Amino acid sequence: MIIRIITPLRRIARRRRRKAVPDEALRAEAKAWLIPRLQELAASHGFTYNKVFIKNNVSNWGSCSVKGNINLNMQLMRLPEELRDYVILHELCHLRQLNHGAEFHTLLNSLCGGREKELRRQLRNYHIGANGASAS
Ligand SMILES: [Zn+2]
Repeated sequence: MIIRIITPLRRIARRRRRKAVPDEALRAEAKAWLIPRLQELAASHGFTYNKVFIKNNVSNWGSCSVKGNINLNMQLMRLPEELRDYVILHELCHLRQLNHGAEFHTLLNSLCGGREKELRRQLRNYHIGANGASAS
């Protein structure tokens, strides 16, 4: 009787812990990697942003506000490094072009060494699911 009651509760607790730890670890990893990398890429290409936030949403890899704040999704840590850089550079370019017009793509392409289309295509192979980004 006791076992029957305790076992499911333990199982739930264990499941909660398993889910919570990787998320926190991923967030810590994202903060430690994405923020310095953003600073580095911004400095080397002459961009000035306002604040940076690490998010965990399912709607986008990153975003840039009119106030110059950059949001980066912690799920970026599940992507290859060059795609993380691509997303960071994409958001930095929005500091100068708050749209996806021709000038935006010209600027982004120049910062990606002419590989913007190729990297954009590669990024489409990944999606941000409810359980984090995964390759499809
Ligand atoms: Zn964009």
